Amino acid sequence: MQYQTPNNIQAEAFSFKDENVENKYIEWNRPLVQNKVFLTTLLTAILYIVYSQLHKIVAPLEMQDTMIMLHLYITTPYLLFISFLAYNKLNYKLMIFLLMIAPIVAAIYSLYIISNVDIPLIYLSEIHLIIIWIFTISGLRLKHATISASVVVIMAFCTTNYIYPLNEKVFTMNMFWMSASFSLGFLNAFIFERSNRTVFLNTVKLETLATTDILTGLNNRSKLSSLLSEEIGRSKRFGHSFGLTIIDIDFFKRINDQYGHIFGDVVLVEVADIIQKNTRSVDTVVRWGGEEFIIIYLEVDKDEILKLSEKLRAEVEKHLFENIDQQTISIGATLYEDKDDIKSIINRADSALYKAKGNGRNRVEFL
Ligand code: GH3
Ligand code: MG
Ligand code: MG
Repeated sequence: MQYQTPNNIQAEAFSFKDENVENKYIEWNRPLVQNKVFLTTLLTAILYIVYSQLHKIVAPLEMQDTMIMLHLYITTPYLLFISFLAYNKLNYKLMIFLLMIAPIVAAIYSLYIISNVDIPLIYLSEIHLIIIWIFTISGLRLKHATISASVVVIMAFCTTNYIYPLNEKVFTMNMFWMSASFSLGFLNAFIFERSNRTVFLNTVKLETLATTDILTGLNNRSKLSSLLSEEIGRSKRFGHSFGLTIIDIDFFKRINDQYGHIFGDVVLVEVADIIQKNTRSVDTVVRWGGEEFIIIYLEVDKDEILKLSEKLRAEVEKHLFENIDQQTISIGATLYEDKDDIKSIINRADSALYKAKGNGRNRVEFL
């Protein structure tokens, strides 16, 4: 079945209300996030290596070893591990979880340092940078970034106000710079995520338009080749069986000639509906041409595909159409064979259809 995004879905910054759409967005966005996280964590690890070397020059002597341990031996490997997960596309959920925790851990270390040095001012910038990092560079979604950054701000507020109070003026200015970092970072992440979600919705809409038949809403012919090459690939790799039928409406020209093209369209849509209703959810229906349809049946043998086709033929035959009492279809069925490509399997089904027409129409033939 083809995936479609309802037209009325709005691009929200936090998440789409429809869970399926949200999951599809996360899936769509995943390669971009992995790429971004890989580069971001790698660069951040390099900067922490430089930072830890600066401790040898800037940090108070008694703090140097601890600070180097925190930044060089804990933070850097932690970031490199996230980078490794992102590069190798391993465990996405673990990667996101570690990425959310990373700035919180970095902020704890930073607050520990701020609370233990004589000139805390020179280390306060790290907290502001961490907040901006979370919102704009980390690759975290707005929801996760907001959680991480809020935890950092609350921790910084509590530490610098209650646990190791800073000088009042420094505290006030620090709170201002932190609020500025948070609000600017949040706004940037909000705008980015909303536009990213709009790009996603437009991409899905374009894909749907390009692969859907306007009249019947079924998959169109351009979608057929990609569906068939996927199925042929799966059959070759995993030995799955699949079958294909071509359905052609009998004497359809007469209907157009007698009742006009518009009425012909109504009949086409009704036949398409009957086909769709009588097809299993794993199977795919395509409008192949004017009054011709193709169904790809998964995991079927000859008996099964003949049974399903016969049932469909009978359903159309017994359906009461407006104005015309009865409308019938002919079906040519075949199964995928090892040597097949797209052309050969369609040709065989087409020959079966030709046989069905030759043998009197309103019937199913197999080749
Ligand atoms: P047969 O039993 O041999 O299939 O006869 P047929 O009349 O169905 O076959 P033919 O190929 O001669 O005619 C198919 C007709 O389908 C011709 C064309 O006018 C009509 N047709 C193709 N596309 C559309 C469409 O989108 N809407 C309508 N109303 N008619 C269409
Ligand atoms: Mg035809
Ligand atoms: Mg026909």
